[in-house]
Amino acid sequence: MENCIFCKIINGELPSKKVYEDERIIAFYDIAPKADVHVLILPKRHISSLIEVGDEDRELMGELLYRTAGIARKLGIDKDGYKVVVNNGRGSGQIVFHLHLHLLGGWKRSAEGWKV
Ligand code: 5GP
Ligand code: ZN
Repeated sequence: MENCIFCKIINGELPSKKVYEDERIIAFYDIAPKADVHVLILPKRHISSLIEVGDEDRELMGELLYRTAGIARKLGIDKDGYKVVVNNGRGSGQIVFHLHLHLLGGWKRSAEGWKV
């Protein structure tokens, strides 16, 4: 897809700090992290958002969540817990229209409790 920054990262035109890659999925660190650990997990095939997901994507959607859980384990944020967020459409705050899961975690515990 032309002019999609995530497609450009996928095909190597733009750099990224990758944490996972296979034939169908790629994951890299968010450029402007909103948590100590902030990784984006996305399908290599350009799908603009969940709004566009079709019947043929059912298995891929499961794979994305499954790999997200694996990445959280690999990065060591699973024990304390993490969030998975998917923005869909402008009203939700989506700014990059290539479907992606945000994996957020690694918060520090303080005297007041968890700093989120
Ligand atoms: P959205 O609001 O669309 O769900 O999230 C898009 C995310 O992509 C944002 O958290 C933003 O910081 C991140 N992002 C935007 N451009 C780039 C980029 O060129 N590289 C990386 N690694 N992340 C990006
Ligand atoms: Zn794209």
